[in-house]
Amino acid sequence: MTGMINVFQPSLGELELAAVKETFDSNWIGRGSRTEEFESVFARHIGVPRDRVRSINSCTEAMFLAMELAGVDQSSDVVLPTVSFVGAGNAISARGATPVFCDVDPRTLNPSVDDVEAVLTSRTKAVVILHYGGYPGDVARIAELCRKRGVLLIEDAAIAVASTVEGQSCGTFGDLAVWSFDHGKIVVTVDGGMLYAREPELAERARTLSYLGLEQSSGYDQARNTDNRWWDFDVSAFSRRSVTNDVLAAVGTVQMSRLPDFIRRREEIAARYENGLAGIEGLQLPPPLPAGHETSHYMYWVQFDHGIRDIVARDLYNQGIYTTFRYPPLHKVPAYGSQAELPGADYAAERTLLLPMHHSLTDEDVDRTINEVREITRNRLKERRPA
Ligand SMILES: *Cc1c(COP(=O)(O)O)cnc(C)c1O
Repeated sequence: MTGMINVFQPSLGELELAAVKETFDSNWIGRGSRTEEFESVFARHIGVPRDRVRSINSCTEAMFLAMELAGVDQSSDVVLPTVSFVGAGNAISARGATPVFCDVDPRTLNPSVDDVEAVLTSRTKAVVILHYGGYPGDVARIAELCRKRGVLLIEDAAIAVASTVEGQSCGTFGDLAVWSFDHGKIVVTVDGGMLYAREPELAERARTLSYLGLEQSSGYDQARNTDNRWWDFDVSAFSRRSVTNDVLAAVGTVQMSRLPDFIRRREEIAARYENGLAGIEGLQLPPPLPAGHETSHYMYWVQFDHGIRDIVARDLYNQGIYTTFRYPPLHKVPAYGSQAELPGADYAAERTLLLPMHHSLTDEDVDRTINEVREITRNRLKERRPA
């Protein structure tokens, strides 16, 4: 709908177009030097050696790869918060493993270390957590727990591209991590993701698995290094092709250079919401970040009491303001076959609404949203509790 204020929105412009044009003009659009540069920039950004990251064609695909790298199989339980992206659940179930859902804090929608520990068993092979809304959550203590119990930690850092705890980037606390650059994220390459592996051997394995399991990376390189028949090959795994390309990488490198500005703007918007929405009856704001935590401000969410969330969302939509809820709890999705009772997640799933949050929002957009939320909440609340 034109004129709709979107909940998420990319910001791609002349700089990205120039980078795409330059890539087209070079006649090398496949995985090459621009992808390597993007990987270097990203590795530097999260503070890890360059050879530990691999550009992947989506975060979901990177999650599937991570499960494979973690050795998850039919004998494995994999723990994850029920408030997780569906792709994480699928990546676990697709390997024949059992997803074991843990509860989340009703206000932050992140699991505590106790929530995770409560569902660990001797079958637990790995724990997957995300950073809700960009809030790091209890990641440092969960990482410590996982190390102590000999369980791998996989961070779904899809929406935590600039989130840190005491200066350490989210995604680098565990053993494996994935990020997303799809059309709705903060850094956008149209589609794309990144995989990080702490162990160099796992990172090396990730490179092989993401390119057909080929023992050698490309015929082009081989031609330089062998006398002849550079097209011969062997495979070490019957793997897929999950790599990305230089066109998208060129866009990604530009977006990374703009990331500090994106985050600054999102910070301003979050502060504006916080001021404008304070003190509205029946509406709770997100809890403050713990000291030492930085969020990427991927989401701005509020919680409505008295069962009015759904109707407020509809009213806002009718006023041209698109809102949504992420991520509907997976223990309620029949396909995963969970019998778990998770009251924290159930509480959050009935009350939480994501308001528009992206760096192209104007102050007027934000103020209009604030005013509509204020008015609609008051009206709907009045209806629920007649005087
Ligand atoms: C968007 C998202 C993903 C998936 O990213 P794609 O690149 O679209 O596959 C994974 N996890 C979370 C938390 C996300 O928000």
